[in-house]
Amino acid sequence: ERERLSRLRHTPAVTLDGQSIELMANIERPDDCDGAVHAGAVGVGLFRTEFLFMGRGAKLPDEDEQYAVYREALERMSGLPVTLRTIDIGNDKPLDKGHRDGGSLNPALGLRAIRWSLADTSMFRTQLRAVLRAALHGKVNLLFPMLSSIGEIRQTLAQLDLARAELDARGEAYGDLRLGAMIEVPAAALMIRSFLKHFDFVSIGTNDLVQYTLAIDRADEAVAHLFDPMHPAVLRLVADVIRAANEAGKEVCVCGEMGGDVTMTRLLLGFGLRSFSMHPAQILAVKQEILRSDTRKLCEWSQSILASDEPLAPVAPA
Ligand code: PEP
Ligand code: MG
Repeated sequence: ERERLSRLRHTPAVTLDGQSIELMANIERPDDCDGAVHAGAVGVGLFRTEFLFMGRGAKLPDEDEQYAVYREALERMSGLPVTLRTIDIGNDKPLDKGHRDGGSLNPALGLRAIRWSLADTSMFRTQLRAVLRAALHGKVNLLFPMLSSIGEIRQTLAQLDLARAELDARGEAYGDLRLGAMIEVPAAALMIRSFLKHFDFVSIGTNDLVQYTLAIDRADEAVAHLFDPMHPAVLRLVADVIRAANEAGKEVCVCGEMGGDVTMTRLLLGFGLRSFSMHPAQILAVKQEILRSDTRKLCEWSQSILASDEPLAPVAPA
């Protein structure tokens, strides 16, 4: 089976009815790029940059160190797009002791991701300057995690303007970015049409979207059996985000676990998804599903799954 799958490495991901699907990789460090290219990824859909900040003791990476890491990822992808997500620190991904952790009773609802960045704007702009400079060396999509309101979007974009102004003042060159929002909080999914006005693309983080929609801690074993990506409430949010982005002519990707789950591939195709990002090890299996799928036959079926009162098994028509 493994050998058969590996033969698909250079096969374009196109459905039976001729729809081209983009399959990208989730990575944690530049080294992971080689595995991504090897698996046939057409880009990095999610670079979780927080891993560069974890396990570092008191000393976090400065602008030059970050720039070198982002540049290395771009160079290893040799011209393919790389989606850099700004740090998603907090909750399940804490910094070492000695840094602020918010001390929250509910870290998943506390100071994490973009909230953390907006609470320490000088650190945030250090990352933004490093990304802007790295963008001279490839195609950068910059993705912001956990946005939940338009006010936060404005603050975030203002920091990006400031970072550019700081580089201008230093006479430092920088490149163009495409900007995206993670859709992983129900508020963002419900506000998707407003969010889309501010961004070039969106990426659905289903791990957190399930966690926050169902109020199930994604890391708590005691409720793991209730963590259900097939819950109709979750699927309705996912389907509506995909629909709204397609209607607005903006790119939409699923980069949470759902994106690499072969049992969900056809359902997402039926919802209109054309871009998936996942662990590199999943790419060939998902591609195989895509090669066997006819999206024209999936639309009606996927709508019936959405309309159900209860989670149904995602068994698609042949
Ligand atoms: C997600 O929430 O689905 C996601 C992709 O981000 P992370 O798993 O890093 O929180
Ligand atoms: Mg997330």
